[in-house]
Amino acid sequence: MNGMTVSKENSILCFDAHLDISMNAMEWNRDQRWVVERIRESENGMHDKPDRRRNTVSFPALREGRIGLVVATQIARVVRPGGPLPGWHSQEQAWAHTRGQLEWYRTMVAAGEMKMITDGVSLRESLKLWSQPGGDHPICFLLSLEGADSLVSIKHLEKAHQSGLRAVGPAHYGEGVYANGTDSSGRLGNRGMELIRAMEDLGMILDVTHLNDDAFWHALDLYGGSVWASHNNCRSLVSHNRQLSDEMITELIRRQAVIGVAMDAWMLVPGWIRGTSDPVSRNVTLETFADHIDHICQLAGNSLHAGIGSDLDGGYGKEQSPHDLDTIADIQNIPAILNSRGYNEEDINNIMHRNFIRFLERHLQVS
Ligand SMILES: [Zn+2]
Repeated sequence: MNGMTVSKENSILCFDAHLDISMNAMEWNRDQRWVVERIRESENGMHDKPDRRRNTVSFPALREGRIGLVVATQIARVVRPGGPLPGWHSQEQAWAHTRGQLEWYRTMVAAGEMKMITDGVSLRESLKLWSQPGGDHPICFLLSLEGADSLVSIKHLEKAHQSGLRAVGPAHYGEGVYANGTDSSGRLGNRGMELIRAMEDLGMILDVTHLNDDAFWHALDLYGGSVWASHNNCRSLVSHNRQLSDEMITELIRRQAVIGVAMDAWMLVPGWIRGTSDPVSRNVTLETFADHIDHICQLAGNSLHAGIGSDLDGGYGKEQSPHDLDTIADIQNIPAILNSRGYNEEDINNIMHRNFIRFLERHLQVS
């Protein structure tokens, strides 16, 4: 398959369940309307972040890869001064930061670059747009919040919902206001329980990604609404608390969830050391990514619960991504990989977009 290029006409619609697009625009100062190469050139000589000049995502690349529907995030953490993680020192600052991210999305919508999916009608319109030939359509996105720290109160959740927010992951890394996340422990406290009750009342999607094991099981016990894991890989392939155990995956399958598999190299191969390991010497490829997709499908006994939640440009770039991926458009090489592993056309469509779209059709009650 070396050197194979996928023509646009043959490319399959792709749904990516996790992209930090506004974070890249507003914190990395990357104009998403530029081609990837132009953004790279604009970062020559910059060393403030490890992924400078190594970005893989922008609107032209998404369109080239026919990634027409995405889940796009707002993200702002609250941290204690002097803590190990970057973040804001108050919920109010974090809230204002996410409102700035929202305003960027709205500006891109006004410019015709993006289209927001908030209900069954806008989902149907988005699918209709991307069923048409050509790739010059707006990037259609469902708004999600990665880590709920920025929600000052339940009133703020309601306001965010009115602004189009449809999915919330209560946790991110470490201790959170509502739930403790990756590399921590503990069930949901009173505020966390109150949050997910309010989310259920509003009919929102609970994103279990980043919940620590205690909070994961606690949240699933309490939550009666729709559940997905937007960007999560398999613990049995790469042992880390950030990954889903087979028991967790099995429970998510039982709950009709879809799991978006991520492309962050440390989640794909065991023993990755950030800043030291390199995708070529560790042979991290789209095949490695497919291993995690395949593991979920094997546990499910079908192709109905795995999808793509690439998280590309989620604080890392080419230095920590499959080495046979130059831009996100190379997601179009995944169908051939799945095909060579015996996945049929229906399976491949399920994984590339159908599963997440079916989930949203059910959740948003598209008739
Ligand atoms: Zn994440």
